[in-house]
Amino acid sequence: MSIQTLHEISEALETKKISSEELVTESLRVIEEKNPNLHAFIEVFDDATAQAREIDRRRRKGEALHPLAGIPIALKDNILVQGKIASAGSRMLQNYRAPYDATVTSRLKEADLVIVGRTNMDEFAMGSSTENSYFGPTKNPWDDARVPGGSSGGSAAAVASGMVPLALGSDTGGSVRQPASLCGISGLKPTYGRVSRSGLMALASSLDQISPCARSVEDLAWLMQVIEGQDPLDATTAILESTSVPSLIPQNVKGLRLGVPKEYFVEGMDEEVKRKVMEAIGKLEQAGAEILEVTLPHTPYALAAYYLIMPAEASSNLGRYDGLRYGYASQDQTLVGSYEQSRSEGFGAEVKRRIMLGTFALSAGYYDAYYKKATQVRAKITQDFDEVWKRVDAVVCPTSPCVAWKLGEKMEDPLAMYLSDIYTLSANLATIPALSVPCGFAHDLPVGLQFMTRRFNEDLLYRLGMTYQSLTDWHRQMPGVIL
Ligand code: GLN
Repeated sequence: MSIQTLHEISEALETKKISSEELVTESLRVIEEKNPNLHAFIEVFDDATAQAREIDRRRRKGEALHPLAGIPIALKDNILVQGKIASAGSRMLQNYRAPYDATVTSRLKEADLVIVGRTNMDEFAMGSSTENSYFGPTKNPWDDARVPGGSSGGSAAAVASGMVPLALGSDTGGSVRQPASLCGISGLKPTYGRVSRSGLMALASSLDQISPCARSVEDLAWLMQVIEGQDPLDATTAILESTSVPSLIPQNVKGLRLGVPKEYFVEGMDEEVKRKVMEAIGKLEQAGAEILEVTLPHTPYALAAYYLIMPAEASSNLGRYDGLRYGYASQDQTLVGSYEQSRSEGFGAEVKRRIMLGTFALSAGYYDAYYKKATQVRAKITQDFDEVWKRVDAVVCPTSPCVAWKLGEKMEDPLAMYLSDIYTLSANLATIPALSVPCGFAHDLPVGLQFMTRRFNEDLLYRLGMTYQSLTDWHRQMPGVIL
């Protein structure tokens, strides 16, 4: 099959050149072939084919269906699907069944997309390599000795290997953009407040955003049409016009001003990655964009601020896993013993590390010195971007300072792992939207280009990404079968 874009798949479904059952069967076949090695999925749902058949039946009857009806999609294991297990990659929730649908899940169901399974992730979305999953790591489809990035590594690897054309992940500090970059696909972190967090397991509530993965920016934009929008179940969602449908997005960058932050091309960044990113920026310049150097002076403090705010919020969010209400419960029958043992046995090392860091940062005497200071730095980082928007329409930079590394390489060095988030976490701190697109290969592995812009200006990111993808074919290069 040479079908590539969602638009083409949708047309083929509409004109009955292909059925949803065929699409889902093909998706399951690729999963069966590749998942034993890649381990992108933790579970494949056995009702997917029946759902596809039902959608085909309704289509044959002439029912008007959503353009994406019948298309397979995968969900990260921290997004609730009623009646299915949602484990967040943790032993703690290994047997936890979701009692309700996340808002994004109900929107996908209303549009009749077929959810084929749940994808692997770093435990509670803490990590940059998917190696922190209780269920074992996911491998990179380009090189199975390497990590896919994380924490949404399962979703990114599932799309990159052709198992599904679409997947959802969550992005708190880069967890969709960084694996998208390392796996050679497109990933978007929407503005905080564009997509409902209801039914997403909370990691750091002021940073989390459910985020799509796809093979092109156009496909991301189609998926956003389904999941975005105000939701009474999440008071932080904004009342807004929806983003434009992709067919209405102009495909040129003429006259747009793009800022290259000088703090983002620092020592320690892979030279080959830098070269690819500079080439991509050159391409945008040739296409008529004006490239300017800009400064985001508080960038050197972003990592420290993030790794205080994120663990602080996570430590309080994860307080609910106490072995009593739900989740893993130890055999210990004493009150304190049962808390201690359930949490000691149920959580992995990285989760414990962050709970300790976060609890420390919030504790009396240290709150002002650490947590409060970090929130002040966060405000400064937001102001840096506000200043930049006075000069340019968007920022363009790398997504990750390096390509996919070897499995195990950074497991003993948490700081080295944290450093791979250096270019992504500022967008979460500043609550702005950011997009990663493939822009070539370094050391034979994919490199990602990142765009960031003002809050709620996703349309501009689509325009930049779609124009770039109309000029290049990096996004079409994928390992293995393409649906
Ligand atoms: N890698 C980052 C972290 O470990 C980002 C996580 C995320 O976005 N969920 O915190």
